[in-house]
Amino acid sequence: MRGVDLEELRAHLTEFIAHKRLETEVKLSLVAHPRNLEYVPGVYEQWRDLVQHIKVSPRLGLAEEPGQPPLCMEPWRGNLNFYTNGEVSPCCCDWFTELSIGNVAEQPLDEIVHGERYKRLLENFLRGEVPNLCLYCREFTVEGAPLRLRKRWPKP
Ligand code: SF4
Repeated sequence: MRGVDLEELRAHLTEFIAHKRLETEVKLSLVAHPRNLEYVPGVYEQWRDLVQHIKVSPRLGLAEEPGQPPLCMEPWRGNLNFYTNGEVSPCCCDWFTELSIGNVAEQPLDEIVHGERYKRLLENFLRGEVPNLCLYCREFTVEGAPLRLRKRWPKP
C-alpha cells in the first residue's frame, strides 16, 4: 500500500537472509486496513519460506470520545520510539510522548528500559489505568484479520 515493489522486497530479503547470522530471526509485520484485507489471508503462504514470524496488527486511530481502556500489547512488544528531544516511548501512536518512559539525553537506554517508569506504565496497563491517549485509541477490527489481543477489557 505504500508503493513498495514486493518482488524487489523479496529479492532484498532473500539476499539479507543469505548473509545474516543463523540466530537472527526475521519478522514480517504488516498493518491490516480496509484496502489490504484481500491480501492479508495470503501473507502466511507467500512469506513463510523466508520469515520466522508474521505479525498482523490492526490499524490504529483516535476516536472522538474516550472509551474503555484497551487491552493492548503495544507497550510489551519491544517497539521503542525515539523522539528528537530524546524522549522514548513504547508506542508508535504516541505522537506527543504521553507514554514516555524516559529520555536518552538524561539516562542510558538500558536504565530506561529496566526503569521504574516503564514498569509503572506496564503495571498500570494491567490494572486498566492507561494514559489518556489510550482511552481514545481505536483499532480497526475486521473478521479474518488476526488481531494482537482482545480489543477491550472484559466487562466486569
Ligand atoms: S495509544 Fe495506547 S492503546 Fe493505543 S496502541 Fe498505543 S499503547 Fe496501545
